[in-house]
Amino acid sequence: MGAYEDILKLGQVSLRAAALSDIGKVRQNNEDAFALLPEKGLLIVSDGMGGMQGGEIASNIVVTLLPGMVERRLISLSVEEKDTTCLALRDTLVDLSQKVREESIGRHGLAGMGATVVLACIRGDQAFIAHLGDSRAYLFRAGHLTLLTNDHSVVGILLRTGEITPEEAKTHPARNVLSRYAGMEETAYADVQAVPLSIGDRLLLCTDGLTGMVRDEAIAEILAHSGDLQVACQSLVDAANAAGGHDNVTVLVAEWRSNDAR
Ligand code: CA
Repeated sequence: MGAYEDILKLGQVSLRAAALSDIGKVRQNNEDAFALLPEKGLLIVSDGMGGMQGGEIASNIVVTLLPGMVERRLISLSVEEKDTTCLALRDTLVDLSQKVREESIGRHGLAGMGATVVLACIRGDQAFIAHLGDSRAYLFRAGHLTLLTNDHSVVGILLRTGEITPEEAKTHPARNVLSRYAGMEETAYADVQAVPLSIGDRLLLCTDGLTGMVRDEAIAEILAHSGDLQVACQSLVDAANAAGGHDNVTVLVAEWRSNDAR
């Protein structure tokens, strides 16, 4: 999937976004997918998993169905209703997970398929961030990169409880096992938060093909030195591939900027 760039204008500010997905250096197919819909204030990245074509199918269900589901769920809510919007997004991802699950049942070779989801939904000057799995959202503000999401993975849980060190996490046998994802048997409750945006903020949504290969410090460095969003996406993908490209890598970078600026 190539690079795309698009823009949403809201009075004095605009949301500009670009994305890039790459197969990496090792894998035979790309199971990542993204939806870049800044005109709807919606940005989504998904990382599929499962045998046969399951991973590709699962992530494609996510990026194809989720935009309409979010739109229908939020249409009657005002931008001020932050808590209600968070709950609505959580409910939407519960439904989405169920749909992925239904698609997997009874179709040959698709049992157990699933996908991560990380989405940013921009309403007013708030970015609502929701996720399932180990695809991540970061906020890059005033030169600092902040991780907004907690990986829904077995290793992520062990790290947060201090049972293993970051070094041990890299080689842990369960490092690819997700504790939450779209398509899981149990109800998939996403974490949802509202992040107030400031002019100049950048949001990065990405799959673990980036974060498994490139340290946060290097990601911050690239975001700090790439004025152009497509260049930023390409540089992030290049960094993952230069580090070995062990996985598919997908990055989506959005910027909240003043229309007075260049
Ligand atoms: Ca991956």
